[in-house]
Amino acid sequence: MLNIVIFGAPGSGKGTQSERIVEKYGINHISTGDVLRAEIKNGTELGKTAKGYIDQGQLIPDSLMIDILASVLDSFKDSKGVIFDGFPRTIAQAEALKKMLAERGQTVTLMLDLEVPEDELMKRLILRGQQSGRADDNEETIKKRLVVYHSQTAPLIDWYKQEGLHSHINGLGDLEKITADICTAIDKAVK
Ligand code: ATP
Ligand code: MG
Repeated sequence: MLNIVIFGAPGSGKGTQSERIVEKYGINHISTGDVLRAEIKNGTELGKTAKGYIDQGQLIPDSLMIDILASVLDSFKDSKGVIFDGFPRTIAQAEALKKMLAERGQTVTLMLDLEVPEDELMKRLILRGQQSGRADDNEETIKKRLVVYHSQTAPLIDWYKQEGLHSHINGLGDLEKITADICTAIDKAVK
């Protein structure tokens, strides 16, 4: 089983790189952001709850997010592994993921930490907002999300370092080069 956590600030390229990894390694993809946006689009109760947080640039409460993740994980059959994109975003979520995988006789193989400078993140997200119309990709909400990232999510870098699973990836520059660096890190972790 190849269980990869792809980590980074909003706009660091987690979704883009996840698609490439899925194609190369034939594993499943869980994007918590995509799951939540689908719930919002379908007008479910969960979607309504999620929208309140997302529009404010806040995180969905851990207990809710952890339940969602467990149910998506259980929906995969004959999986070769999973890339976790957008989860964990807090220490509590990282601990829950570790436990959830342990209960299934599995572990996280590695954590890819996509690092991108803040001015570049702002540029990418504002452009994405103009192109996709994603409601949380506006300057005011992006700034809030970056504050949340630094306070609640960035501490996971040290957490995964302590687990011996952290792998730094330069997320700035050529897309192909970033993918190649990611593949090198994965291949090294499974060797
Ligand atoms: P990227 O651009 O790198 O894909 P992102 O931060 O722009 O990242 P998503 O991962 O799509 O966007 O998440 C969008 C929003 O959904 C978050 O700002 C947050 O409100 C909510 N969300 C997604 N994952 C989680 C999570 N694990 N815990 C809590 N809230 C989450
Ligand atoms: Mg995404």
